[in-house]
Amino acid sequence: MKAKVIILPGDGIGPEVIGAATDILQSVACKFGHDFLIKSYLLGGCAIDSYGTALPEETLEACLEADAVLLGAVGGPKWDDPTAKHRPEQGLLGLRKALGLFANLRPVKPHPDLLEASPLRRERLEGVDLLVVRELTGGIYFGQPRERRTHNGEVQAVDTMTYTESEIRRVAKLAFEAAGQRRRKVTSVDKANVLECSRLWRQTVAEVALAYPDISLEDLLVDAAAMHLITRPATFDVIVTANLFGDILTDEASVLSGSMGNLPSASLGETQNRHGYPRGLYEPIHGSAPDIAGRGIANPIGAILSTAMMLRHSFGLEDEANAIETAVAATLSEGYRTVDLAPAGQEGLSTQDIGQIITGKLA
Ligand code: NAD
Repeated sequence: MKAKVIILPGDGIGPEVIGAATDILQSVACKFGHDFLIKSYLLGGCAIDSYGTALPEETLEACLEADAVLLGAVGGPKWDDPTAKHRPEQGLLGLRKALGLFANLRPVKPHPDLLEASPLRRERLEGVDLLVVRELTGGIYFGQPRERRTHNGEVQAVDTMTYTESEIRRVAKLAFEAAGQRRRKVTSVDKANVLECSRLWRQTVAEVALAYPDISLEDLLVDAAAMHLITRPATFDVIVTANLFGDILTDEASVLSGSMGNLPSASLGETQNRHGYPRGLYEPIHGSAPDIAGRGIANPIGAILSTAMMLRHSFGLEDEANAIETAVAATLSEGYRTVDLAPAGQEGLSTQDIGQIITGKLA
């Protein structure tokens, strides 16, 4: 297969983990006889420094022409001024919106040999295999108005949460389709006891469910979902939820896997690439981790597994995706650990070293 992949390393540890992910992508191309044209562009803080904007025109154009996009992370203290006109996350939000990526898929399946790396007890973690489908281009992150204004003589900040039926329906459909390939259960998470948006969410998800009679639907309030993710995580299959709730719950869910550094994600929309698959954006769920950036110790597994998701969802290369996932699992089974996963007293491997070990295990 010939495919055009745009990489957006971004800021902080982004370039470090994307370096390891790109190496594995090139190895897959070599081993399986594919031709991946990989080009790098700026997004986020580094783009603000070079172009004065977080999403330069040429980055956007390249992504719109790509078959898939692989992203590291954006942001960092250098660009944290809340009054700044240009902020790194505007680049990411703008890119998701421009590519029409309305759903973010985040699988969480702790590796059996990493159960001790999580603060949760082993028996709580056994059998955990869930997929969070987060709505990505609607809700409070995009609603208008969003502003500061004067109200009764003092400063007031306003954000707006909006959802349309069609925004809810398309992400709910995707969640039910995904559940059909898994354990046939969807948990819809909302705050329907308080928010009108959530009441529309619950009603619309229930309507979508009618077309999937063999899939069970559970509704949960987000506060209860936060608790159940810790007390009974193994009972979840597919969780579908709005942008804000998904953002928070997926970080919570990452604790189940031992480290944020382990988890991949895929953002998908309606547009297809020239191979007839969704043109997705793939990224580890972690941020730019400024506290460890530049030290070469970031865990690249989330970025590497994001590459596997890219091969599966955007190129239909299931064997190649499985080869990467098997190589990661074998590496962990043999006890190789990065610093974030190493037990106390044990030195962790560098980003580059674990990347090379995983690449060496590609079957
Ligand atoms: P973070 O995910 O960057 O880091 C949280 C903690 O997890 C840190 O202690 C970090 O060292 C650790 N960590 C994260 N990824 C790791 C990895 N691969 N290997 C080892 N340890 C890892 O979250 P934060 O500290 O809240 O945010 C830092 C910056 O990242 C902020 O500017 C934030 O806006 C940005 N951010 C970007 C994205 C994104 O680009 N998608 C997502 C979240 C946060």
